[in-house]
Amino acid sequence: METYRNLLSPLRVAGVELPNRMVMGAMHTRIEMLDRPYERLAAFYARRAEGEIGLIMTGGYSPTPEGVMDESGLVLDREEQLEAHRQVTSGIRKAGGRVALQILHAGRYAKLAGCVAPSALRARINAFTPRALATDEVWGLVESFARTAGLAREAGYAGVEIMGSEGYLINEFTSAITNLREDEFGGSFEARVRFPLEIVKAVRARAGGDFIVIFRISAMDLMEGGMTGAEVAGFARLIEAAGADIINTGIGWHEAAVPTIAAAVPRGAWVAAVRNVKQAVSIPVMASNRINTPDVAEEMIASGAADLVSMARPLLADPDFAKKLRLGLKAEINTCIACNQGCLDLIFTGKTATCLLNPRAGHELDFPSGLAETRKKIAVVGGGAAGMAFAVNAAERGHQVRLYEASQELGGQLNLAKKVPGKNEFNELLRYFKVMLEKLKVDIRLGAAVNVEELKAGNFDEIVVATGAVPRRPKIVGIDHPKVVDYAEFLSGRKTVGQTVAILGAGGIGFCVAETLVGDPAESLETEVFQKLWGVVSDASTPGGVLRAEEAGKAPRTVYMLQRRNEPFGKKLGKTTGWIQKARLKKAGVVMISGATYEAIDDEGLRYTVDGKACVLKVDHVVLCAGQVSERGIAAELQQAGLKVQLIGGAESAEDLDALRAIDQATRLAVRI
Ligand code: NAP
Repeated sequence: METYRNLLSPLRVAGVELPNRMVMGAMHTRIEMLDRPYERLAAFYARRAEGEIGLIMTGGYSPTPEGVMDESGLVLDREEQLEAHRQVTSGIRKAGGRVALQILHAGRYAKLAGCVAPSALRARINAFTPRALATDEVWGLVESFARTAGLAREAGYAGVEIMGSEGYLINEFTSAITNLREDEFGGSFEARVRFPLEIVKAVRARAGGDFIVIFRISAMDLMEGGMTGAEVAGFARLIEAAGADIINTGIGWHEAAVPTIAAAVPRGAWVAAVRNVKQAVSIPVMASNRINTPDVAEEMIASGAADLVSMARPLLADPDFAKKLRLGLKAEINTCIACNQGCLDLIFTGKTATCLLNPRAGHELDFPSGLAETRKKIAVVGGGAAGMAFAVNAAERGHQVRLYEASQELGGQLNLAKKVPGKNEFNELLRYFKVMLEKLKVDIRLGAAVNVEELKAGNFDEIVVATGAVPRRPKIVGIDHPKVVDYAEFLSGRKTVGQTVAILGAGGIGFCVAETLVGDPAESLETEVFQKLWGVVSDASTPGGVLRAEEAGKAPRTVYMLQRRNEPFGKKLGKTTGWIQKARLKKAGVVMISGATYEAIDDEGLRYTVDGKACVLKVDHVVLCAGQVSERGIAAELQQAGLKVQLIGGAESAEDLDALRAIDQATRLAVRI
């Protein structure tokens, strides 16, 4: 049996005993937007502490009002705020955990008219141009960081993390790209790093020796003209000398054109940048970004690249990550699939974070736990995401569950998603569901469509229909031509396509099909292939660790994407991943055609008109990605026979269906039933 000896070994830092090397990374959750915000935050973090995570990092708190991410951002700068924080820290302590507060000044990323930065240079991801700070204001900010650290100590935090990466204020000082100052905080390398060094010294002096001071360094800026690996190593040494206890590593500025944490990034892809920091210092170093399994985490430490591992999204997916590992229950960990759909995509559209895999995340107070009052006999028809999520959650509440799946395999459309380059992590979700269904003794009936008689004869208290959705076949002349393949036929491998392909429809599925047609599964699995595609170089001398993006090699196919709407492609894609999908298809030369009216599909290919002009795409195949329709055959038959059914997932509605909605709906029904 694997022992995870390194991950599970304790570490003593600044007088604080961490029981293991697993840290929950800082995440802004917007939980504070909900009612009873600090009660909810306390419950959210306490749940992770119960799961035995070694150290929790809060989301970022700004030391001053103009350093918040946006109008709703959080500030810690006054005594009056401490009572609310004590609710959080005492909840975590009671649950046996430890927590550090992250101090984050957003600098020129703050979405505020009054944002500030070392120089008045606007970031390409912000509409607001910052005001350049005066020299005495910079010294004032050093004091503000120290004041926030002192307040954090008073509130019961075990330490602070000073956020010095991702392109926020401190990073803007350290980089020659954004720091054009001519005072003591700009110009030479030594002057540019003065601001963070003064902050670390001031925080240490204010908070005392028995308080953990973590500095998050930008181990790789991924910005042309950013720090070289050699400069990062030198800076890390200075941070250690200034008094930090731990260096955490951040990768890439938010405005960088390279994916850093999405599923398109291979697991552990940034290990070289972490090792570069580790080799420069003697204090513990923390690895972060795309570490989602115990094996990747253990290897980070075992290989000598890091001493601790920070995981943020994986602790949304499974608060019991560390506890399950200690108990030898690795297969029961609900592994983060790096989809961003339930967390970052919601946060960046102004909503509260949760998790596609775990709808309880961020909503701990809204979900009852424990067994149901009455144990029911429940039939679930359909073993896709919704059906499996319902079955697991209902069985956990003590119900007796039978799950019918017509095909030979559980998974439904998850079995298609896992074939898309960059979506291989869906295999983990399938593994989790299968392990839990077996553990909870769900009675699984595969390989035959269940009929009304069988369900009647079963005398079930509840019948839940989760039969999903099927591809829409739009009414186009020639829709039954042999050139036409639907996305399910293509992704499942039941039908293959030629060298020249038109994709009809450009929603999430159209993009996934295009990526499968032009991508290489290795690009999200093997770090070398990923780095070559995105121009990443982990040597000591390349500024920012990135080269000007090169064109990817010739794509294996010529691909056209079409949509009827006359609007930019990919408007409905995820806020934090859509740009990656669009950039990937651009690299592969995919041609995108908006405002198309489909006329016919025949031996020539696809005939369509744009602005009244008739066109023909001479393609080998047309892949239909024109949305989905609910599959409700059995539901209708059951209703006709007078049986009560509850519909979930695609069977309930195919409109804007995704795994996030399916699992959320299934879980909420399971805790009610
Ligand atoms: P979708 O996003 O609604 O896209 C459907 C596409 O089909 C649109 O481009 C639409 O564009 C076109 N269309 C609709 N009706 C049509 C018709 N009668 N004839 C021709 N074209 C038609 O749905 P989807 O791509 O099927 O995806 C389903 C769900 O899964 C979505 O909610 C999606 O977000 C989710 N999903 C998410 C991901 C992810 O990575 N997050 C991946 C896959 C799927 P026009 O009307 O302009 O032609």
